[in-house]
Amino acid sequence: MSDQLKLGKYSVGMGDRFTRQTQAQLRACLTAAERGVEVIPVWNKSHREHQIMGSEPADVRAVADAAVKALGWTKPYHVDADHVGLKTVDRFLPHCDFFTIDVADFIGERAGAGAIKGFVEQHVELNGRIAIAGSPHPFQTTREEMERIAGKYLLAVGEAGKAYRHIAAAKGAGSFITEISMDEADAPQTPVELAIILAAIADEGIPIQTIAPRFAGRFNKGVDYIGGLAQFERKFIDNLHVIMFAVQRYGLPANLKLSIHSGSDKFSLIPSCAVCWRNTMRAST
Ligand SMILES: [Zn+2]
Repeated sequence: MSDQLKLGKYSVGMGDRFTRQTQAQLRACLTAAERGVEVIPVWNKSHREHQIMGSEPADVRAVADAAVKALGWTKPYHVDADHVGLKTVDRFLPHCDFFTIDVADFIGERAGAGAIKGFVEQHVELNGRIAIAGSPHPFQTTREEMERIAGKYLLAVGEAGKAYRHIAAAKGAGSFITEISMDEADAPQTPVELAIILAAIADEGIPIQTIAPRFAGRFNKGVDYIGGLAQFERKFIDNLHVIMFAVQRYGLPANLKLSIHSGSDKFSLIPSCAVCWRNTMRAST
């Protein structure tokens, strides 16, 4: 993916609802850079939020560019069309270089029997015991479970594929970063579901660099995480292992990362995520 626009190792989503905080947010990245950590800012605003605010994607681009110029930021930065789909993406196309394709609305819309059968037969590696290097435990599925999960997600991933190809046709493949979000789904995805979703995403040819599953617990805006920390950590580690497996097995971009949406103010999770990530890396090398 040499000619692919690549998302930096550390990135943080900047939600600037009133487009008045952009410089202050960028200053946080500058402070981090002064301390030796490169954190790439991604200004994101969803279709829904634009509707609420009566703003336009061009506004987000304008304030981001202005802040970068005013503060002399020389590293990459991105403007994200957040939580978009085929129907809502068009007005973002000229202004964004990052697209978060949301498939939550389609989850549960059942895929056709032929598509399910084809997927299950093609992905024998996901049927039964899925051995994942470094994982503290194996993941287990049955053919029935695979069929159920494929039935639940294949159509949604297909819709993501349509949206991705639409964006790529307009902007040129490789010129933007792709994320897929499922955090607004009705229920958290299990690690086995994530493995199947990533296999399907690879089949669709979507070069995702970041994926936002729904985690257990509550991620309300402006307040800390509400939920069991130990349970969150177990799932987080499992998801990291699944991502490493999918990168190796399906050739997804090597920088594929796990995105936590509505992660601001989740101060109790940040140290957990750091420890989980470090331990997972250690176990897998
Ligand atoms: Zn989200």
